[in-house]
Amino acid sequence: MSDYSPVLKRQIASFLSAVDIEKSPWKEFLSAVDQAYVKYDVDQRTLEHSLTLSAEELVQANEEMHAVFQAIPDQLFHLSNEGRVISYKSGGSSNYYLKSDRLINELMRDITSREVADKFDGAISEVVNSSRTIHFEFVIVHDKKIYYYEVRMMPLKSNHVLALVRDITERRLAEEQIAYLAYHDNLTGLPNNRLFRDRLEQGIAHAERSNSKLAVLFLDLDRFKLINDSMGHSVGDELLQITSERLIEGVRRSDSVALNMATLNTSVARLGGDEFTIMLEDIEDISSVSRVAERLIENVGKPFELSNQEVHISTSIGVAIYPEDGSDAGMLLKNADVAMYHAKDQGRNNFQFFNESMNAASHEQLMLENNLHKALKNKELCLYYQPQVNIISGELIGMEALIRWKHPERGFISPGVFIPIAEETGLIMEIGEWVIREACEQGARWIKEGYKIVKISVNLSAKQLKEPKLCDMIDSVLSETGMNPEFLGIELTESAIILEPEIALLRLDRIKSLGISLSLDDFGTGYSSLSYLKRFPIDTLKIDQAFIRDVTVDQEDASLVKAIISMAHGLGMDVVAEGVEVQEQLEFLGVNACDTIQGYLFSRPVPAEKVKQMLKKR
Ligand code: C2E
Ligand code: CA
Ligand code: CA
Repeated sequence: MSDYSPVLKRQIASFLSAVDIEKSPWKEFLSAVDQAYVKYDVDQRTLEHSLTLSAEELVQANEEMHAVFQAIPDQLFHLSNEGRVISYKSGGSSNYYLKSDRLINELMRDITSREVADKFDGAISEVVNSSRTIHFEFVIVHDKKIYYYEVRMMPLKSNHVLALVRDITERRLAEEQIAYLAYHDNLTGLPNNRLFRDRLEQGIAHAERSNSKLAVLFLDLDRFKLINDSMGHSVGDELLQITSERLIEGVRRSDSVALNMATLNTSVARLGGDEFTIMLEDIEDISSVSRVAERLIENVGKPFELSNQEVHISTSIGVAIYPEDGSDAGMLLKNADVAMYHAKDQGRNNFQFFNESMNAASHEQLMLENNLHKALKNKELCLYYQPQVNIISGELIGMEALIRWKHPERGFISPGVFIPIAEETGLIMEIGEWVIREACEQGARWIKEGYKIVKISVNLSAKQLKEPKLCDMIDSVLSETGMNPEFLGIELTESAIILEPEIALLRLDRIKSLGISLSLDDFGTGYSSLSYLKRFPIDTLKIDQAFIRDVTVDQEDASLVKAIISMAHGLGMDVVAEGVEVQEQLEFLGVNACDTIQGYLFSRPVPAEKVKQMLKKR
């Protein structure tokens, strides 16, 4: 017997600690103990008898049996029907209940708190009367800590009971922890989507009863991905943590917002990524919601000090109000989200209240999406070309190919409208390839027809740059169309590059090696500095038209443009000014040594036929 008893001991111990008492109360426990008895050839009576012995006697009576009991993590009490301790065994856990060694012959009532004693007494009479096993729990507070215990009590002979007391504190805490995690966001500690929805549903029920209003705010950080990708995820995480604090502060600060805000119930949650939601309850007037939204925008807009760098970010907020904008949580969230997208469209860093026309707008978006699929097949797309001229000689030196979509019913749709849709849907890959092929075919045709052509630049979207097959595609388009790569240029925005700088560098080097030149588009609107961008093989820098627009009236824009031109020259890049519309702008740019201009002053984008007239014959 002693050969395999240690194994058995371990089995029982592990079995007992694994038993989920909640789901399978006594049965399994007893059958495990039974199995042990069978092996040891003892019966229930022997067990009961052994429990009446003192520990020493027990050891003598059956050393092996004792070992089995020691392996049980529970504290065992053999109690009389009046609750007197006849014998007991301390538990395996360090927090076992009742640590004193002078318990024998004491009444439970005298050695425990009243509440616990009441529970024991109640349970004893129930067990004795029913001859059934029962199960209950109690807690005690010791040193400001809560301990949880679970008791299983079974009848013994002569109206005695056996109580097994197990410390379940760890399990309870783990359960609470799991419950917490299930309802909170790990990174910020804010409620998560699930908890927010619960609270929103409660909020709606309350608003319905009290006939009050409630607001749901949907926040999304602007260009967060850019920071996350360029500065690293740990910086991004930190930014989200600080943002969540600022949001909480933004909704809590009642002092300068409005007096009636002091009573607002609020809930700030993180949905995931850079999306947050906020519920404001008991709104008295809508203007107080505007004030909260303004404060949130202001709070998030304050500079962040992250890894010794000052970082700026903004947020776009959409607001939906109960009951006007939705009668349930799903509808309110959806409409707040729609309004948030509208805020993004309005140039970010602002808030928008939901209105029905926004849904009409997203309906329109969906229709365009469907139509765009057919546009390629139905040959509704074409390229216009906008000349670029040398600022001194006025000579045509290049042109930018700009896509146009002639919708059969709606006429021309701006690329500013459909390119983002193409990017979202992935159609940009096909459209982008079509653009390059069309530009190359056109260029090759002009060469064949004997024209002295100039460089044709096409725009590449950030999505296209990610595509691993991009360079192979360009390479084969070049050879299929017979286009001379010297006359092909590619324009990219800085955000496309710094999203994934390593991949960008790889692609750009490869594109350069094909003999194609590269321009950095819309320069000045992004985040990066020129010195950072010098890592990339860029030939030409295009100053965004936003700076050119006011260059003759805005002193700040003027000095910025001057600085960009001289820095770009310092790095060996050519400079193109975009959006040149009036003579004064041209003069300013001329004085400040800009190389090339592009804009309505010289020509709008025109169809291929019209450019042909500007090209010289060889
Ligand atoms: P972009 O690359 O910055 O193109 C310049 C835009 O400025 C063009 O708008 C052009 O028509 C406009 N523009 C040119 N000169 C002036 C001027 O003097 N004043 C003003 N106010 N505007 C001027 P467009 O053609 O509507 O294109 C808008 C944007 O759509 C482009 O901005 C580009 O980002 C994108 N895009 C156009 N074609 C393509 C394409 O084939 N592929 C991709 N991925 N994007 C394209
Ligand atoms: Ca461009
Ligand atoms: Ca541009």
